[in-house]
Amino acid sequence: MINQTEFRRIVIKLGTSTLTEGTAFLSSPRLVDLIRQISYIHNQHKDIILVSSGAMAAGREALNFPTLPKQLPAKQMLAAVGQPRLMTLYAQLFALYNLKVAQVLLTRADLENRRSYLNARNTLEALLEQRVIPIVNENDTVATEEIRVGDNDNLSSQVANLVEADLLLMLTDQPGIFTSDPKISPEAIQIKQIDSPEIPEEIWKAAGGTNTILGTGGMFTKLQAADLARRGGTTVVVARGSDPDIVLKVMRRDETGTWFLPAGGIQESRKRYILMTGRYDTGSITIDQGAVVALRSGGSLLPVGVHAVDGEFERGDAIKIRDMNGKEIARGLTNYSHDQLKVIVGTHSNHIEELLGFSYGDEVIHHNDLVILNG
Ligand code: GLU
Repeated sequence: MINQTEFRRIVIKLGTSTLTEGTAFLSSPRLVDLIRQISYIHNQHKDIILVSSGAMAAGREALNFPTLPKQLPAKQMLAAVGQPRLMTLYAQLFALYNLKVAQVLLTRADLENRRSYLNARNTLEALLEQRVIPIVNENDTVATEEIRVGDNDNLSSQVANLVEADLLLMLTDQPGIFTSDPKISPEAIQIKQIDSPEIPEEIWKAAGGTNTILGTGGMFTKLQAADLARRGGTTVVVARGSDPDIVLKVMRRDETGTWFLPAGGIQESRKRYILMTGRYDTGSITIDQGAVVALRSGGSLLPVGVHAVDGEFERGDAIKIRDMNGKEIARGLTNYSHDQLKVIVGTHSNHIEELLGFSYGDEVIHHNDLVILNG
């Protein structure tokens, strides 16, 4: 038993090495084995999101490209050929368990822009609500150097952050993270658990860099990903995809792989995140006393509680929330822009669609996107 938090929402990252069993092509037996385990935990009322590589591998297989080309357009071409094949395989195999899948392709730009970040989150939530398994990959065909995440380890941690996952399981070809590279040093010891607030510097070094120098894939990107996800309150496990029943073992909290315990609770890290998110000076809203009480007791902000809108802001911006005396009592990420909000202030949420012609939901600011300021 490693820790006791319930894992209800789980992001599972399947790397190319796991999906191909180290060959140049996708391994159907490996996929069958993993999908059996994933379907089993899905049936236990867990929300599952997969982050899957393998598009290029599937493309190489289809076009008979034994060596991976170096140029980005050639890689993008292979991913474009392979992605639908990969999805077809997932759809067929999950269908054996009566489960449905959805394709979600993202780039870094989608996750950095608050509006598309919220849209992606809403779509993922809607899929999970329908018990569909979202299968995320980088949108390789459009992802040029400037806008791509670049590796699915980091993408998986951003997805974990996006959906506020309880667990991020990164399956790879190594049994975990080691004190040094096990391929070159026989004395390398596998690390069982990291629970210190920061990942120790010697572990970054062993993985081939420091936390400030960009490494090149492998264990280094696993550490980067684990670092980000645990700051967001997610438990992270790096384990070997070929170990028998590995997904089930991790769900049972067996001592396998390397565990990274969350560094600060979800609440704390989300608070940090919202407090850090820029453009605080762009706008604010004033809310009535009833809404202040509702917010302080953990509720969301509804349009009926909004009294006035000041300044300009976009959907997804972090804005200030003031009470009727002008005192800032909270900050949060708004679901509506200033001009949309001006149309719906003071009205009941079920009029939103009628007034705007669309709705981003009942809440102006969902309580998960709110930070109540002390005092
Ligand atoms: N998006 C790439 C693919 O599907 C993989 C990137 C990675 O594994 O880090 O082939």
